[in-house]
Amino acid sequence: MKIDNRPNLDFKNVLIKPQRTTITSRSEVNLCRKFTFPNSQSEWEGVPIMAANMDTTGTFSVCKVLATYKILTCLHKFYTLNDYQMFFCQEKNKDNDIENIKNYMVVSTGIGEKDFINLCSIMDNISGLKWICIDVANGYMQKMISFCKKVRERYPKLIIIAGNVATSEMTQEYIINGGVDVVKVGIGPGSACLTRLKTGVGVPQLSAIIDCADAAHGCGGFIIGDGGITSPGDMAKAFGGGADFVMCGGIFSGHDENPGEVVEKLTQNGETKKFKYFYGMSSEHAMKKHYGQMAKYRSSEGRFIKVPYRGSLGDTVEDYLGGLRSTCAYVNAYKIKHLPKCTTFLLVTQQLNTHLVE
Ligand code: 5GP
Repeated sequence: MKIDNRPNLDFKNVLIKPQRTTITSRSEVNLCRKFTFPNSQSEWEGVPIMAANMDTTGTFSVCKVLATYKILTCLHKFYTLNDYQMFFCQEKNKDNDIENIKNYMVVSTGIGEKDFINLCSIMDNISGLKWICIDVANGYMQKMISFCKKVRERYPKLIIIAGNVATSEMTQEYIINGGVDVVKVGIGPGSACLTRLKTGVGVPQLSAIIDCADAAHGCGGFIIGDGGITSPGDMAKAFGGGADFVMCGGIFSGHDENPGEVVEKLTQNGETKKFKYFYGMSSEHAMKKHYGQMAKYRSSEGRFIKVPYRGSLGDTVEDYLGGLRSTCAYVNAYKIKHLPKCTTFLLVTQQLNTHLVE
Protein backbone atom coordinates (compact mmCIF):
# COMPACT_ATOMS: atom_id res chain seq x y z
CA MET A 1 0.00 0.00 0.00
CA LYS A 2 1.20 3.50 -0.85
CA ILE A 3 -0.05 6.96 0.03
CA ASP A 4 0.17 9.82 -2.48
CA ASN A 5 -0.11 12.98 -0.43
CA ARG A 6 0.06 15.64 -3.12
CA PRO A 7 -3.04 17.87 -3.02
CA ASN A 8 -5.87 16.51 -5.15
CA LEU A 9 -8.36 19.07 -6.35
CA ASP A 10 -11.91 19.17 -7.53
CA PHE A 11 -13.63 22.13 -9.19
CA LYS A 12 -15.10 23.18 -5.86
CA ASN A 13 -11.66 23.52 -4.25
CA VAL A 14 -10.51 26.37 -6.50
CA LEU A 15 -11.41 29.71 -8.04
CA ILE A 16 -9.74 31.37 -11.03
CA LYS A 17 -7.78 34.51 -10.14
CA PRO A 18 -8.80 37.56 -12.21
CA GLN A 19 -6.05 39.54 -13.89
CA ARG A 20 -5.49 42.75 -15.86
CA THR A 21 -7.21 42.38 -19.20
CA THR A 22 -7.36 44.24 -22.49
CA ILE A 23 -10.59 42.53 -23.51
CA THR A 24 -13.35 45.12 -23.44
CA SER A 25 -16.24 42.97 -24.63
CA ARG A 26 -17.03 39.28 -24.34
CA SER A 27 -17.77 39.33 -28.05
CA GLU A 28 -14.00 39.63 -28.64
CA VAL A 29 -13.50 36.12 -27.25
CA ASN A 30 -13.24 33.20 -29.67
CA LEU A 31 -14.52 29.90 -28.28
CA CYS A 32 -13.66 27.97 -31.45
CA ARG A 33 -10.44 26.03 -31.59
CA LYS A 34 -8.67 24.30 -34.46
CA PHE A 35 -7.00 20.94 -33.81
CA THR A 36 -4.62 18.73 -35.76
CA PHE A 37 -4.71 15.29 -34.18
CA PRO A 38 -1.51 13.32 -33.59
CA ASN A 39 -2.35 9.85 -34.88
CA SER A 40 -4.96 10.49 -37.56
CA GLN A 41 -3.32 13.75 -38.68
CA SER A 42 -6.90 14.93 -39.28
CA GLU A 43 -8.10 18.43 -38.53
CA TRP A 44 -11.26 19.70 -36.85
CA GLU A 45 -12.45 23.12 -35.84
CA GLY A 46 -15.30 23.93 -33.47
CA VAL A 47 -16.25 24.73 -29.88
CA PRO A 48 -14.49 21.99 -27.89
CA ILE A 49 -17.48 20.90 -25.82
CA MET A 50 -19.21 17.50 -26.16
CA ALA A 51 -22.48 15.97 -25.06
CA ALA A 52 -21.86 12.65 -23.28
CA ASN A 53 -22.60 9.37 -25.06
CA MET A 54 -25.37 8.54 -22.59
CA ASP A 55 -28.71 7.53 -24.05
CA THR A 56 -30.33 10.60 -22.44
CA THR A 57 -27.88 13.11 -23.97
CA GLY A 58 -26.04 11.41 -26.86
CA THR A 59 -29.04 11.50 -29.19
CA PHE A 60 -29.74 12.71 -32.72
CA SER A 61 -32.08 15.48 -31.46
CA VAL A 62 -29.41 16.80 -29.08
CA CYS A 63 -26.83 16.58 -31.88
CA LYS A 64 -28.97 18.72 -34.19
CA VAL A 65 -29.15 21.53 -31.62
CA LEU A 66 -25.49 21.36 -30.56
CA ALA A 67 -24.25 21.29 -34.17
CA THR A 68 -25.74 24.78 -34.63
CA TYR A 69 -23.33 25.94 -31.88
CA LYS A 70 -20.40 23.97 -33.40
CA ILE A 71 -20.49 21.67 -30.34
CA LEU A 72 -19.92 17.91 -30.66
CA THR A 73 -22.32 15.16 -29.61
CA CYS A 74 -21.05 11.69 -28.73
CA LEU A 75 -23.97 9.56 -29.82
CA HIS A 76 -24.72 6.57 -27.62
CA LYS A 77 -23.46 3.18 -28.76
CA PHE A 78 -26.90 1.58 -29.10
CA TYR A 79 -27.72 3.35 -32.37
CA THR A 80 -27.46 0.99 -35.33
CA LEU A 81 -26.72 1.68 -39.00
CA ASN A 82 -30.45 1.67 -39.61
CA ASP A 83 -30.96 4.44 -37.00
CA TYR A 84 -28.27 6.57 -38.66
CA GLN A 85 -29.74 5.98 -42.12
CA MET A 86 -33.25 6.89 -40.97
CA PHE A 87 -31.99 10.05 -39.27
CA PHE A 88 -30.07 11.27 -42.33
CA CYS A 89 -32.97 10.43 -44.60
CA GLN A 90 -35.33 12.54 -42.47
CA GLU A 91 -32.87 15.44 -42.35
CA LYS A 92 -32.36 15.30 -46.11
CA ASN A 93 -36.11 15.48 -46.65
CA LYS A 94 -36.20 18.59 -44.43
CA ASP A 95 -33.36 20.12 -46.47
CA ASN A 96 -31.14 20.37 -43.38
CA ASP A 97 -27.37 20.73 -43.72
CA ILE A 98 -26.32 17.10 -43.20
CA GLU A 99 -22.59 17.70 -43.67
CA ASN A 100 -22.65 20.27 -40.87
CA ILE A 101 -24.38 17.82 -38.53
CA LYS A 102 -21.88 15.05 -39.44
CA ASN A 103 -18.98 17.34 -38.51
CA TYR A 104 -20.22 17.43 -34.91
CA MET A 105 -21.22 13.82 -34.59
CA VAL A 106 -19.14 11.20 -32.77
CA VAL A 107 -19.95 7.51 -33.19
CA SER A 108 -19.50 5.55 -29.95
CA THR A 109 -18.57 1.92 -29.48
CA GLY A 110 -17.85 -0.55 -26.72
CA ILE A 111 -15.08 -3.14 -27.10
CA GLY A 112 -17.03 -6.35 -27.75
CA GLU A 113 -17.08 -8.18 -31.08
CA LYS A 114 -20.68 -7.08 -31.72
CA ASP A 115 -19.73 -3.48 -30.94
CA PHE A 116 -16.95 -3.62 -33.55
CA ILE A 117 -19.32 -5.02 -36.17
CA ASN A 118 -21.88 -2.29 -35.43
CA LEU A 119 -19.18 0.40 -35.57
CA CYS A 120 -17.80 -0.81 -38.91
CA SER A 121 -21.26 -1.07 -40.44
CA ILE A 122 -21.90 2.59 -39.55
CA MET A 123 -18.49 3.94 -40.55
CA ASP A 124 -18.36 1.94 -43.81
CA ASN A 125 -21.85 2.83 -44.99
CA ILE A 126 -22.20 6.47 -44.01
CA SER A 127 -19.73 8.78 -45.67
CA GLY A 128 -18.34 11.89 -44.04
CA LEU A 129 -18.28 10.77 -40.40
CA LYS A 130 -15.02 11.85 -38.75
CA TRP A 131 -15.11 10.78 -35.13
CA ILE A 132 -15.10 7.51 -33.17
CA CYS A 133 -15.35 7.22 -29.37
CA ILE A 134 -14.21 3.94 -27.82
CA ASP A 135 -15.74 4.00 -24.40
CA VAL A 136 -15.61 1.71 -21.39
CA ALA A 137 -16.16 2.61 -17.74
CA ASN A 138 -12.74 1.21 -16.80
CA GLY A 139 -10.18 2.33 -19.39
CA TYR A 140 -7.40 0.52 -17.48
CA MET A 141 -8.42 -2.82 -18.97
CA GLN A 142 -5.60 -4.29 -21.04
CA LYS A 143 -8.05 -5.25 -23.77
CA MET A 144 -8.81 -1.58 -24.45
CA ILE A 145 -5.41 -0.82 -25.98
CA SER A 146 -5.56 -3.77 -28.38
CA PHE A 147 -9.11 -2.78 -29.39
CA CYS A 148 -7.98 0.82 -30.01
CA LYS A 149 -5.13 -0.46 -32.21
CA LYS A 150 -7.58 -2.58 -34.19
CA VAL A 151 -9.87 0.42 -34.80
CA ARG A 152 -6.87 2.60 -35.72
CA GLU A 153 -5.64 0.03 -38.27
CA ARG A 154 -9.06 -0.07 -39.88
CA TYR A 155 -9.61 3.72 -39.84
CA PRO A 156 -6.21 5.43 -40.12
CA LYS A 157 -7.66 8.90 -40.86
CA LEU A 158 -10.52 9.06 -38.36
CA ILE A 159 -10.24 10.95 -35.08
CA ILE A 160 -10.28 8.40 -32.27
CA ILE A 161 -11.29 9.16 -28.69
CA ALA A 162 -10.82 6.51 -25.97
CA GLY A 163 -11.21 6.21 -22.22
CA ASN A 164 -11.94 6.59 -19.40
CA VAL A 165 -8.78 6.97 -17.38
CA ALA A 166 -7.62 9.52 -14.79
CA THR A 167 -3.83 9.16 -14.60
CA SER A 168 -0.90 10.32 -16.71
CA GLU A 169 0.80 7.01 -17.60
CA MET A 170 -2.38 5.49 -19.02
CA THR A 171 -3.10 8.69 -20.97
CA GLN A 172 0.27 8.36 -22.70
CA GLU A 173 -0.23 4.64 -23.26
CA TYR A 174 -3.39 5.37 -25.28
CA ILE A 175 -1.74 8.04 -27.43
CA ILE A 176 1.64 6.40 -27.97
CA ASN A 177 0.65 2.72 -28.18
CA GLY A 178 -3.10 2.74 -28.83
CA GLY A 179 -3.18 5.10 -31.82
CA VAL A 180 -5.68 7.32 -29.98
CA ASP A 181 -5.93 11.08 -30.66
CA VAL A 182 -7.96 12.21 -27.66
CA VAL A 183 -8.09 10.54 -24.23
CA LYS A 184 -11.26 10.76 -22.18
CA VAL A 185 -10.45 11.59 -18.55
CA GLY A 186 -12.73 11.02 -15.59
CA ILE A 187 -13.14 8.18 -13.12
CA GLY A 188 -16.07 8.83 -10.86
CA PRO A 189 -16.90 12.55 -11.20
CA GLY A 190 -20.17 12.15 -13.14
CA SER A 191 -23.50 13.42 -11.82
CA ALA A 192 -25.13 10.01 -12.36
CA CYS A 193 -22.08 8.07 -11.22
CA LEU A 194 -21.82 5.79 -8.19
CA THR A 195 -18.33 4.38 -8.85
CA ARG A 196 -16.69 6.21 -5.97
CA LEU A 197 -19.38 5.04 -3.58
CA LYS A 198 -19.50 1.45 -4.82
CA THR A 199 -15.78 0.90 -5.34
CA GLY A 200 -13.88 3.60 -3.47
CA VAL A 201 -11.98 4.28 -6.71
CA GLY A 202 -11.61 7.73 -8.29
CA VAL A 203 -9.45 10.81 -8.82
CA PRO A 204 -10.69 14.35 -8.08
CA GLN A 205 -11.51 15.68 -11.52
CA LEU A 206 -9.51 18.91 -11.69
CA SER A 207 -6.31 17.13 -10.65
CA ALA A 208 -7.05 14.31 -13.10
CA ILE A 209 -7.38 16.90 -15.88
CA ILE A 210 -4.19 18.74 -14.89
CA ASP A 211 -2.11 15.52 -14.77
CA CYS A 212 -3.55 13.89 -17.88
CA ALA A 213 -3.44 17.09 -19.96
CA ASP A 214 0.23 17.52 -19.14
CA ALA A 215 0.93 13.90 -20.11
CA ALA A 216 -1.11 14.09 -23.34
CA HIS A 217 0.37 17.41 -24.47
CA GLY A 218 3.84 16.02 -23.83
CA CYS A 219 3.27 13.49 -26.61
CA GLY A 220 1.20 15.64 -28.98
CA GLY A 221 -2.22 14.36 -27.88
CA PHE A 222 -5.32 15.88 -26.35
CA ILE A 223 -7.71 15.13 -23.51
CA ILE A 224 -11.39 15.48 -22.72
CA GLY A 225 -12.35 16.38 -19.16
CA ASP A 226 -15.36 14.08 -18.84
CA GLY A 227 -17.87 14.56 -16.04
CA GLY A 228 -18.38 16.67 -12.96
CA ILE A 229 -19.42 19.92 -14.66
CA THR A 230 -22.20 21.52 -12.63
CA SER A 231 -21.93 25.17 -13.76
CA PRO A 232 -20.30 27.36 -16.42
CA GLY A 233 -17.61 28.13 -13.80
CA ASP A 234 -16.71 24.42 -13.53
CA MET A 235 -16.40 24.25 -17.30
CA ALA A 236 -14.04 27.24 -17.30
CA LYS A 237 -11.95 25.59 -14.57
CA ALA A 238 -11.73 22.37 -16.63
CA PHE A 239 -10.42 24.34 -19.64
CA GLY A 240 -8.16 26.41 -17.35
CA GLY A 241 -6.70 23.17 -15.97
CA GLY A 242 -5.71 22.08 -19.48
CA ALA A 243 -8.70 20.12 -20.81
CA ASP A 244 -8.76 20.45 -24.60
CA PHE A 245 -12.40 19.34 -24.66
CA VAL A 246 -15.04 19.12 -21.95
CA MET A 247 -17.73 16.43 -21.99
CA CYS A 248 -21.03 16.90 -20.19
CA GLY A 249 -24.04 14.73 -19.41
CA GLY A 250 -26.12 16.11 -16.55
CA ILE A 251 -26.07 19.75 -17.61
CA PHE A 252 -27.32 18.80 -21.08
CA SER A 253 -30.18 16.67 -19.67
CA GLY A 254 -33.72 17.68 -18.71
CA HIS A 255 -34.52 19.68 -21.87
CA ASP A 256 -37.17 19.48 -24.59
CA GLU A 257 -34.64 17.80 -26.90
CA ASN A 258 -33.77 15.02 -24.43
CA PRO A 259 -35.77 11.81 -24.63
CA GLY A 260 -38.58 11.00 -22.21
CA GLU A 261 -41.69 12.73 -20.93
CA VAL A 262 -41.86 15.73 -18.64
CA VAL A 263 -43.08 14.51 -15.24
CA GLU A 264 -45.02 16.79 -12.88
CA LYS A 265 -44.67 16.44 -9.12
CA LEU A 266 -46.49 18.30 -6.34
CA THR A 267 -43.97 19.59 -3.76
CA GLN A 268 -44.60 19.84 0.01
CA ASN A 269 -45.52 23.53 -0.23
CA GLY A 270 -48.14 22.89 -2.90
CA GLU A 271 -46.10 23.95 -5.95
CA THR A 272 -46.04 21.83 -9.08
CA LYS A 273 -42.52 21.14 -10.34
CA LYS A 274 -41.56 19.65 -13.66
CA PHE A 275 -38.85 17.03 -14.11
CA LYS A 276 -37.28 14.71 -16.64
CA TYR A 277 -35.38 11.51 -15.92
CA PHE A 278 -31.61 11.14 -16.30
CA TYR A 279 -29.60 8.04 -15.45
CA GLY A 280 -26.09 6.63 -15.56
CA MET A 281 -25.23 4.17 -18.31
CA SER A 282 -24.15 1.63 -15.67
CA SER A 283 -27.34 2.11 -13.66
CA GLU A 284 -29.73 -0.75 -13.17
CA HIS A 285 -32.25 1.19 -15.29
CA ALA A 286 -29.86 1.45 -18.27
CA MET A 287 -28.75 -2.17 -17.92
CA LYS A 288 -32.33 -3.44 -17.96
CA LYS A 289 -33.24 -1.14 -20.87
CA HIS A 290 -30.36 -2.21 -23.12
CA TYR A 291 -29.48 -5.71 -21.98
CA GLY A 292 -32.80 -6.84 -20.48
CA GLN A 293 -31.21 -7.50 -17.09
CA MET A 294 -28.48 -6.57 -14.71
CA ALA A 295 -25.83 -9.28 -14.40
CA LYS A 296 -25.65 -10.74 -10.86
CA TYR A 297 -21.88 -10.27 -10.51
CA ARG A 298 -22.18 -6.48 -11.05
CA SER A 299 -23.38 -3.76 -8.75
CA SER A 300 -25.09 -0.72 -10.19
CA GLU A 301 -22.52 2.09 -10.60
CA GLY A 302 -25.04 4.63 -11.86
CA ARG A 303 -27.87 6.64 -10.42
CA PHE A 304 -31.41 7.20 -11.67
CA ILE A 305 -32.19 10.88 -11.10
CA LYS A 306 -35.08 13.31 -11.53
CA VAL A 307 -33.61 16.51 -12.99
CA PRO A 308 -35.56 19.78 -13.16
CA TYR A 309 -37.15 20.35 -16.58
CA ARG A 310 -35.22 23.20 -18.24
CA GLY A 311 -37.01 23.99 -21.49
CA SER A 312 -34.92 24.48 -24.59
CA LEU A 313 -31.36 23.09 -24.75
CA GLY A 314 -30.23 26.14 -26.71
CA ASP A 315 -30.86 28.39 -23.67
CA THR A 316 -28.61 26.26 -21.45
CA VAL A 317 -25.89 26.14 -24.11
CA GLU A 318 -25.96 29.93 -24.47
CA ASP A 319 -25.68 30.34 -20.70
CA TYR A 320 -22.55 28.14 -20.68
CA LEU A 321 -20.94 29.81 -23.69
CA GLY A 322 -21.67 33.24 -22.18
CA GLY A 323 -20.05 32.17 -18.90
CA LEU A 324 -16.96 30.88 -20.69
CA ARG A 325 -16.56 34.10 -22.67
CA SER A 326 -16.79 36.03 -19.43
CA THR A 327 -14.09 33.87 -17.77
CA CYS A 328 -11.85 34.53 -20.78
CA ALA A 329 -12.49 38.27 -20.42
CA TYR A 330 -11.55 38.16 -16.69
CA VAL A 331 -8.17 36.55 -17.39
CA ASN A 332 -7.28 38.16 -20.73
CA ALA A 333 -7.71 35.03 -22.86
CA TYR A 334 -8.81 36.03 -26.37
CA LYS A 335 -9.13 32.38 -27.34
CA ILE A 336 -10.31 29.37 -25.37
CA LYS A 337 -6.97 27.76 -26.24
CA HIS A 338 -5.21 30.43 -24.15
CA LEU A 339 -7.16 29.72 -20.94
CA PRO A 340 -4.55 27.42 -19.27
CA LYS A 341 -1.71 29.91 -19.63
CA CYS A 342 -3.97 32.71 -18.35
CA THR A 343 -5.26 30.69 -15.37
CA THR A 344 -4.01 30.83 -11.81
CA PHE A 345 -6.07 28.68 -9.48
CA LEU A 346 -6.63 29.90 -5.94
CA LEU A 347 -7.23 27.19 -3.37
CA VAL A 348 -10.37 28.21 -1.49
CA THR A 349 -12.54 26.97 1.32
CA GLN A 350 -15.70 28.72 0.12
CA GLN A 351 -17.14 29.27 -3.37
CA LEU A 352 -20.40 31.14 -3.04
CA ASN A 353 -22.21 33.35 -0.59
CA THR A 354 -25.44 31.43 -0.01
CA HIS A 355 -26.55 33.51 3.00
CA LEU A 356 -29.82 34.65 1.41
CA VAL A 357 -30.52 31.54 -0.64
CA GLU A 358 -33.56 29.53 0.51
P1 5GP B 1 -21.81 14.55 -15.89
O1 5GP B 1 -21.59 15.58 -16.93
O2 5GP B 1 -23.23 14.10 -15.83
O3 5GP B 1 -21.29 14.96 -14.55
O4 5GP B 1 -20.92 13.29 -16.30
C1 5GP B 1 -21.09 12.62 -17.52
C2 5GP B 1 -20.17 11.42 -17.55
O5 5GP B 1 -20.47 10.50 -16.50
C3 5GP B 1 -20.28 10.56 -18.79
O6 5GP B 1 -19.66 11.12 -19.92
C4 5GP B 1 -19.63 9.26 -18.34
O7 5GP B 1 -18.23 9.31 -18.42
C5 5GP B 1 -20.01 9.20 -16.86
N1 5GP B 1 -21.10 8.24 -16.62
C6 5GP B 1 -22.27 8.11 -17.30
N2 5GP B 1 -23.02 7.13 -16.78
C7 5GP B 1 -22.31 6.60 -15.77
C8 5GP B 1 -22.54 5.53 -14.84
O8 5GP B 1 -23.59 4.88 -14.83
N3 5GP B 1 -21.55 5.28 -13.95
C9 5GP B 1 -20.39 5.99 -13.95
N4 5GP B 1 -19.44 5.65 -13.08
N5 5GP B 1 -20.14 7.02 -14.78
C10 5GP B 1 -21.09 7.31 -15.68
